[in-house]
Amino acid sequence: MTFVVTENCIKCKYTDCVDVCPVDCFHEGPNFLVIDPEECIDCTLCEPECPAEAMFSEDDLPDEQSRFLELNEELSQVWPVISEKKEKPEGAEDWDGKPDKLKLLER
Ligand code: SF4
Ligand code: SF4
Repeated sequence: MTFVVTENCIKCKYTDCVDVCPVDCFHEGPNFLVIDPEECIDCTLCEPECPAEAMFSEDDLPDEQSRFLELNEELSQVWPVISEKKEKPEGAEDWDGKPDKLKLLER
């Protein structure tokens, strides 16, 4: 099983989750993070750290977020690993909770 980063991370990308991951399975794109499902050991540590509540266990993934399972898998193969928290992007709070952010995903 794996954890999955979902839509509300887009343009929020606070990166709080990255600091707690024991196996460095987060990968960073321009405005979103993903988890490599092959590396995630399902430790659950990242989920409560996310201020945007964007993190779900694969088993609890809401139906409307199901495509993010595939997106995490795909993008973790092309984006570089991020293992330390960094400054949040400008306007992160304004984007938190906004609907329909998938179209804003930058690759
Ligand atoms: S803490 Fe949440 S919003 Fe921030 S990068 Fe991680 S998944 Fe994205
Ligand atoms: S569940 Fe654990 S191993 Fe998986 S991404 Fe979160 S912190 Fe990393």
